[in-house]
This record gives sequence, structure tokens and C-alpha cells, in this order.
Amino acid sequence: MNPFDLSNRVAIVTGGNGGIGLGMARGLANAGAAVVVAGRNADKNSAAIAQLESLGAKAAAVEVNVTDQASCQAMIAFAVERFGRLDILINNAGTNIRKQPIEYSLAEWHEVLETNLTSAFVCAQAAYPEMQRAGGGKIINIGSMMSIFGASFAVPYAASKGGIVQMTKGLATAWAKDNIQVNAVLPGWIDTDLTRKAREQVKGLHERVLERTPAGRWGMTDDFAGIAVFLSSPASDFVTGTAIPVDGGYSVQG
Ligand code: NDP
Repeated sequence: MNPFDLSNRVAIVTGGNGGIGLGMARGLANAGAAVVVAGRNADKNSAAIAQLESLGAKAAAVEVNVTDQASCQAMIAFAVERFGRLDILINNAGTNIRKQPIEYSLAEWHEVLETNLTSAFVCAQAAYPEMQRAGGGKIINIGSMMSIFGASFAVPYAASKGGIVQMTKGLATAWAKDNIQVNAVLPGWIDTDLTRKAREQVKGLHERVLERTPAGRWGMTDDFAGIAVFLSSPASDFVTGTAIPVDGGYSVQG
């Protein structure tokens, strides 16, 4: 038996229509899973499905706003209706608003917390009965280096990503009895739309990242294929509640 085989498994990747989410979705597709890509932007969703289908995978897209509980519940129902079961949920959708702490409105605080943290809880809650029905499951929550470190320009983001790690531990302990493993992945600095904006907004960021990252480069979205497959497959059946950095050594650099 290949412990990394995902044949007959069904996965949902929120924010799977671009960036890190699509890198993970490609990994799952190559390992044999059927993948549901969930994002707000219909054009990005269609382009992502076309990519996954070109790898020979079964794929479908659903328009979802993860800040809306009913939309998250409909996303889970869609995957089950389309592919018959749900085994894997990757809570990857995320956003950031970069400002000094004093400049945030309460609405902006809520927008970041709801998109990054509350949504992951809501989607996990909605997925749980389906994973129980399937005899087990895998939930992967996407954190950040800011789950560990602070940054003056991203206080709500760091709060949401710190919360992701603690929520992961709680869900892991609650649902181990159901054979559901819940883990977090903490990306370092990865070249995506999100960080392209950061590089425009934060002077010197590009050079600072290169200097501090022992691997000497920004991460690529395909750097997330392997960890996605590992944490979605039987290879990780005794791994739960962890937060694994995928960061080229950024978090261990003294
Ligand atoms: P992108 O901006 O490329 O992707 C973000 C994704 O989230 C998009 O697919 C977007 O889809 C989706 N999304 C955002 N808001 C919503 C919403 N309300 N409802 C549904 N989908 C939503 O960013 P990344 O790939 O860089 O980020 C992915 C994750 O990785 C995020 O959680 C981010 O915080 C995290 N991360 C990224 C790092 C990096 O260096 N890039 C570092 C650490 C963590 P759509 O536009 O269709 O809504």
C-alpha cells in the first residue's frame, strides 16, 4: 500500500483557486484525490478546475464566501453531493489588512478575524458530520509565521493566525476519537498575490525575507504540494494537533 495514495478521497480547499491553496490542490490531485476548489471569484475558480482536470483529476468548483456560515455549509453539501463523501478539508482562505494598530476600524479587525479564523472553525464544524460518516478525516488549517512572531503592521492577522494554532490543538483533541486528524501548516514568505501586495506596501520586505530565509529564496506555491499530501493521507494517521512550518528555515534562523 502506498501511504500517500489519495485515490477515492474527496477534498475541499478553501481559497483553492490561487496561490498556496492551488499549490496544495495540485498536490492532492496528483495523489489521486477529487478536489473541490472553493473561492469567491468564479473566473479564478474555473481556471483552477481546468488546471486540476489537466492533471487527470476529478475537480469541481463552488462559489463560497467563508465569512458566511450558510455559504460554508452549502460548500460542504456541494462536495458531498458531487463526489459522495468528504475526507479532507483545507482551511486556506485568508486575507490581510496592513496598517499600524491605531489605524484599524473595528470592521477591519472583524474582517480579518472572520476570514482567517472564524471561517476555519465554521467550515470544520460543518465538515465534522461528513467525516464521521466517512469513518475519519483530515483537516488542515493554514497559519503563518505570524502564528509565532509579531509584526507591527499586521496585528489582527497575527491574532487570527495565532488563534489558528490553538484552535487546531483543540479540534485535534476533540476529534481524535473519530479518527479525524487536525493539523496546521505555517507558511514562510511565499510568492503569491497576497505577498505581492505586501512587497508593494512594506518597504524593504523583499530583501529582508531573502536575507533571513536560510533557503535563500521566497517559497513557491508548489512547495505546499508535499505537506498537503502528507497531512491528507494515511501517512499522517498518528500526527495530530501539530503546526508544521514550511518556511525554508525562516522560523529557526537565530
Ligand atoms: P492569495 O491571495 O493568493 O489567496 C487567498 C485565497 O483566499 C484566494 O483564493 C481567495 O479567493 C480566498 N479568499 C479570500 N477571502 C475569501 C472569502 N471571504 N471567501 C472565500 N475565499 C476567500 O493568498 P495566499 O495563497 O498567499 O494565501 C493563502 C493562505 O496562506 C492564507 O490563509 C494566508 O494568510 C496564508 N499565508 C500566506 C503566506 C504567503 O507568504 N503568501 C504566508 C503565510 C500564510 P477569492 O479571491 O476567489 O475569494
